[in-house]
Amino acid sequence: MKILHCVILSGGMDSATLLYHVYGIAEDELYALSFDYGQRHRRELECAAKLAGDLYVSHQIIPLDFLKAMTPKSSLTDDSVPTPEGHYAADNMKQTVVPGRNTLFLSIALASAQGRLATLGDDWRAVIYYGAHAGDHTIYPDCRKAYVRNMEGVIEEASEERVELMVPFLDWSKGDIAEYGVHSLEVPFEHTHTCYNGTVPACGKCGSCTERLSAFDDAFATDPLEYADRESYKKFTREV
Ligand SMILES: [Zn+2]
Repeated sequence: MKILHCVILSGGMDSATLLYHVYGIAEDELYALSFDYGQRHRRELECAAKLAGDLYVSHQIIPLDFLKAMTPKSSLTDDSVPTPEGHYAADNMKQTVVPGRNTLFLSIALASAQGRLATLGDDWRAVIYYGAHAGDHTIYPDCRKAYVRNMEGVIEEASEERVELMVPFLDWSKGDIAEYGVHSLEVPFEHTHTCYNGTVPACGKCGSCTERLSAFDDAFATDPLEYADRESYKKFTREV
C-alpha cells in the first residue's frame, strides 16, 4: 500500500514544522494545501509557497473568497476589527476566531485527497496532516481534542477508510513545536509568517506574535523573524 500525504500548510510556524516533519517520514507522494480566505495576514500564503517550493513539494492554494464576507467581526478577515494583543487566554482573543474555517479546510483537504486517490489507484491511501496543538485549545474550538477525534471519524467514514486524519502536535505546546522545529528539523522559520496584522516586520504584539515569541523563549531559541517590537510581548501576563 502506498500513502499520499497531504499537509495543510498555512505558512505559519506550526504548519511549517508539520511540513518538515512529514517531509522526513513521507515515502510516497506528498503535497501541501493552503487556503486564501481573505486573511489579513496574507503574507503567510507567500511563505507557504516558499516553504513548499524549497522542498520541491507540490503546493496548491485554494481560493475561499466567500469566507471573508461570511465571517464579519473576526479580526483575521474583517479589517474594521482591531487585532487584539497579548496571550491567547485573554477574552478579546476570541475576535481572532473565524467560524467554521478549519472544518472547511479539512473538508476540502478530504475532497482533494479523495480526488487524487481516484487517479492514483486502489492500492493508495491518504493521510491528511493538520497542525493543531495544545496552545490553540483555549480559544479555537476546532483545534481541541474532541473536535479532532470527531473529524477523524468523519474523514474515515466519508472516505470508507481510505483517508485518515493525523494531528501529531495535538498534545504539544507551541514551545514544544518551536523546540522540535529549531533543534531537530532545522525549519527555516525566517520563511514563515505568524503575525495576525500581516505586517513586515511582524508587529510583535498581536496574539499570534506573542505566542510565537514566547514559544521560542520556551525552546531557548531566538526567532529569526524580524519584529517591529521584540520587547512588548514580555509585558503580557501568560495565562495558558
Ligand atoms: Zn503580530
